[in-house]
Amino acid sequence: MSSTNAVDRSNEFTGKRVLITGAGKGIGRSTALLLAERGAQVIALSRSAADLRALEREIGCETHAVDLGDATAARAAAVAAQPVDLLVNNAGIARLQAFLDLDVEAFDETIAVNARAAMVVGQVCARGMIERGAGGAIVNVSSISAQIGFPLHAAYCASKAALDALTRVMAVELGEHGIRVNSVNPTVTLTPMAEKAWGEPAKAAQMLSRIPLNRFVQPGEVAQAIAYLLGDESRMINGVSLAVDGGFLAR
Ligand code: NAP
Repeated sequence: MSSTNAVDRSNEFTGKRVLITGAGKGIGRSTALLLAERGAQVIALSRSAADLRALEREIGCETHAVDLGDATAARAAAVAAQPVDLLVNNAGIARLQAFLDLDVEAFDETIAVNARAAMVVGQVCARGMIERGAGGAIVNVSSISAQIGFPLHAAYCASKAALDALTRVMAVELGEHGIRVNSVNPTVTLTPMAEKAWGEPAKAAQMLSRIPLNRFVQPGEVAQAIAYLLGDESRMINGVSLAVDGGFLAR
């Protein structure tokens, strides 16, 4: 495409307040930068205050430091962040344990951060969207792990399958209010989390061999898929889990 046909997206989200959880690092941070570049007022919610301060210096966003594993604190932070037009439930953790060694505390924490927090923050934001009557869009950051059983990832895979299921029910119930809910499901994306899970060269090579495009995803590429699902160009897309996986799931 010649540059004269390039779409100018600099105002795509102008006037929109976008809440992004886990905006301190990785995919959340890339998403905050991209949406700010496209005119959004970003509200960044994350755990480490230092990450939030750095992001605030860069894009002038509103910030809320909170542990989303605490449902009461998560709800209070979501209330403080209102009004919100668009929501990205991105915060997530991966605690790697073999199934036989998986402890209840690790399982519960993973479900609390990866699935329950999306429910709690989603409820607060959706109620606000319904009250204001202007509709909205929500993107939950899931994973191909919702559909694939990766060794050492039992709690993580369970949490992402739960998040995909939650996404579908939210889409079905909130559609009548003009609120669309979808998920993005990336394969290994080059962030601090991926470094922990896939940093070993042998593990990385095995994973790469399953990706037809033969590379891992860049955080900015997930951010672009999120922006698409938040934006008007996807206005009839609701309740999908969009793989951002270079063809992994097609194999
Ligand atoms: P990351 O680099 O580890 O960043 C995660 C962000 O979420 C950090 O800012 C982290 O803050 C925040 N966070 C985690 N737990 C939190 C909590 N309890 N309360 C508040 N904030 C919390 O991870 P990422 O790779 O960007 O992952 C982002 C999302 O993409 C996750 O949902 C992940 O499951 C999903 N995903 C990642 C990959 C991958 O390969 N990277 C693939 C598929 C899906 P602190 O650092 O301060 O704790």
